[in-house]
Amino acid sequence: MAGEPQEDCLFCKIVEGHIPATIVRETETTVAFRDINPQAPTHILVIPKAHYENAAALAAGAPELAADVLRETAEVAAGEGLDSYRTVFNTGSGAGQTVWHAHAHLLGGRGMQWPPG
Ligand code: C5P
Repeated sequence: MAGEPQEDCLFCKIVEGHIPATIVRETETTVAFRDINPQAPTHILVIPKAHYENAAALAAGAPELAADVLRETAEVAAGEGLDSYRTVFNTGSGAGQTVWHAHAHLLGGRGMQWPPG
C-alpha cells in the first residue's frame, strides 16, 4: 500500500537502517544519502521515508511530503555549498528509474549540459 514500507524495497531498507548508506541529513520525513555510483562530484539522493514508487505517486498521494523532499533537496545543496545544481526524478524504466521508491537525484559540483542524455 502507498506510504507503507515494502519488504523488497532497497530504499525502505536504507530508511530502516538494514542496508548501510552514507547519510548526509535526515529529517522526520526524509533521508538524504550519497549515491553509491556518483555521476557528479556531489550526487545525493533525497528520499521520503514513506514508500511511494515514484515522484508522481508521491505528489498525488502525499503532496506535503513531496514538498518536504523538494525543500530538503535545497537544504542539502546549501549544506554542500552548491550555488547551482540539478534535481532529477527518473520516472519509469524508460527514463532510467531502477529503484521503485521515489527519490530526487541532487547533482552538482560540475558543469551540466542540456538536453540531458
Ligand atoms: O533513478 P534511479 O532509480 O536509476 O536511481 C537509483 C539510484 O540509486 C542510482 O543512482 C544508484 O546508484 C543508487 N543506489 C544507491 N545505493 C544503493 C542502490 C542504488 O545509491 N544501495
